Amino acid sequence: MYKQSKQLLSFYCSPNPKNFSACDASFDDARYVMLGVPYDRTSSYRPGSRFAPTHIREASQNIETYSFRTNIDLEEVKIYDLGDLNVVISLEETLRRLEIVVAEIVKADKIPIVIGGEHTITAGTVNPLKDNPAIMVFDAHLDFREEFMGTKFSHATFLKRLSDNLGADKIILIGTRAACNEEIRSAKEKELYYITTHEVQNNKNKIIEKIKSRILNFGSVYISIDMDVLDPAYAPAVGNPEGLGLDSRDLIDIIYGACDKSIIGLDLVEVSPNYDNGATAILSAKIISEIICLIEKKRQKTAINE
Ligand code: MN
Ligand code: MN
Repeated sequence: MYKQSKQLLSFYCSPNPKNFSACDASFDDARYVMLGVPYDRTSSYRPGSRFAPTHIREASQNIETYSFRTNIDLEEVKIYDLGDLNVVISLEETLRRLEIVVAEIVKADKIPIVIGGEHTITAGTVNPLKDNPAIMVFDAHLDFREEFMGTKFSHATFLKRLSDNLGADKIILIGTRAACNEEIRSAKEKELYYITTHEVQNNKNKIIEKIKSRILNFGSVYISIDMDVLDPAYAPAVGNPEGLGLDSRDLIDIIYGACDKSIIGLDLVEVSPNYDNGATAILSAKIISEIICLIEKKRQKTAINE
């Protein structure tokens, strides 16, 4: 890796006192780079997702690393934990820094695995991606307001901003069950593709096939998981809990079943540790581990077929 890149990464990031489990590769050797983004300045109900990168890493150290879905042990996967982004109060500046760091990770041909922070941070992770990815977003909310609490850019407007920026046709939103009239109107007008929680629960296999065929139009997939997509019974500690949610198995089944294309990045956001009984962090760590193992499994398959 170029010296200049290393300097840049150490300028914009600081080590976290906890490493994510099994992250013992060097940056040069790693295929996956873990990055925390402790930013929650636009939180409106239950702030505190700035603590999630540490909280989820700690949980990850207390669960086993073997994935029975893939038969891969996370210990054998090459992951580097870059630590946390040096965030500032300004969202704009924080996103600028995040984009620079993710661009370096992508340039080095590595897969960014980002732990938020609030959902706005996804705006900083998707811009540097290559290969025209579909952006697969799991969220109870539409996050499609034009403005919220006097600002154009917040956790409640982030998907609208992303759609203004990338085009709504790139987005596949799954697990929707909370929105206001304005958001629904605007989402319909922009032809945002969204699947409600209810639709998933009524016929999961059919929905998986629908998502799969939608993804076929793209070169790859980026996944963004707002943990509030899950029912509060599974993930109680989120910024804006919403009842009647997906169960944790649905989430993993959809990702495993629908992502035929390669997954080029992941973020997991909106965990608010002050409200946690431990379950949300443990589940978040498990979801991240299972998705890394899935990406690794696909990579190994492609390598065999080549
Ligand atoms: Mn969200
Ligand atoms: Mn949400």
